Amino acid sequence: MRDSGDDDRVHRHDWRVAGGLPLSRARERAVTGEGQPAGRALEVPVFLPDATRAAVRSVSTEDLRSVGVKALMVNTFHLMRRPGMRVVQRSGGIHRFMGWDGPIMSDSGGFQVYSLIRQSAEHGVIRQNEVIFREPSTGEKWRLTPERVIQLQMQLGSDIMICLDDCTGAEAPEAEQEQSVERTIRWARRCKEELERMLGSGRQSRARPHLFAVVQGGASEVLRRQCAAALVSIGFDGYGFGGWPIAPDGSLLTEQLAAVAESVPADSVRHALGVGRPDHVLAAAALGYNSFDCSLPTRDARRNRLYMFLPPYPGTPLRSGESFYRTVYILDDRYHADFTPIDRGCDCPCCRVYSRAYLHHLFKVGDATAERLASLHNLRFYTRLMAALGVGSRAAVSDA
Ligand SMILES: [Zn+2]
Repeated sequence: MRDSGDDDRVHRHDWRVAGGLPLSRARERAVTGEGQPAGRALEVPVFLPDATRAAVRSVSTEDLRSVGVKALMVNTFHLMRRPGMRVVQRSGGIHRFMGWDGPIMSDSGGFQVYSLIRQSAEHGVIRQNEVIFREPSTGEKWRLTPERVIQLQMQLGSDIMICLDDCTGAEAPEAEQEQSVERTIRWARRCKEELERMLGSGRQSRARPHLFAVVQGGASEVLRRQCAAALVSIGFDGYGFGGWPIAPDGSLLTEQLAAVAESVPADSVRHALGVGRPDHVLAAAALGYNSFDCSLPTRDARRNRLYMFLPPYPGTPLRSGESFYRTVYILDDRYHADFTPIDRGCDCPCCRVYSRAYLHHLFKVGDATAERLASLHNLRFYTRLMAALGVGSRAAVSDA
């Protein structure tokens, strides 16, 4: 556990003051969403389900609204491959394509490409100024550069864009981490310049999108701080904690997350990329993160793993380090004749109408409705978790 003074804690928790209390600068700015169309501002704290290929698996955009989802994360790299930017553009942009009028954040796809390339060099190569990806089945080549990634995100029409970064594993050698940080900073600068160039060309009729940079540096706190400081000096609308947020032993990279949160302006959006386990979200929130995305809630749901708050949560202020939830495997035999809802405190479309026994049955017979209902329940758990983080006193999240 980090040793943090009270001043530090107040600084970190400013953004959470909400629910009738004065808005912090961060929240005010995020809510205002300067230049964004109505309804497209990112309100924090926020959890963005991963709609990687312009869909959150098993659920529709209507469904997402019904459980209080406010914003979505799509993936530029995947959408570039399928359906292709031309289709998205012809439909009128990513919002119209998906039928979603809330904020959309687009990841560059760098993380996914690097993961594939690091698995096998046959998938492509990372160079000083570009990333080349080779389609395994067809051999088709895709080229990503900082400029191209911005152009693609402009074609999508996303509200919040993410710079191309060079992602490394937390356990990668120091020299590789240094190179990743150097490249990430250089590429972030080029991304910002490209965005300014495109907006300044006068050919863009759309609202000014926000641009987030990603902080690399692996498991090195020093490199994380250096990377964050360099990116802050270039200036972005938000900062993401990049790379793998989890150590090989499964623990959250708490010290590194803290180093980044402390190195970026207190009024910026701090996004923890890929941080999704509820206790990890809470721990990151205690360190100052106010925006999260992960495919975990829906992936778990499809595997019949459901989240439940433990009483007295979420009505009682959440405390980082205390257990506040548990998971239920609904396929377990013990639920075959359990006619209670998954969670009595939940108002999702599943808990409002159906019993554990019914959901157990749907999974058992392999009905597609099982994945939809389970996904909606887990997503509602996350929107309730965000509400619990956002409303209340500064003690709502405490690492004490
Ligand atoms: Zn529910």
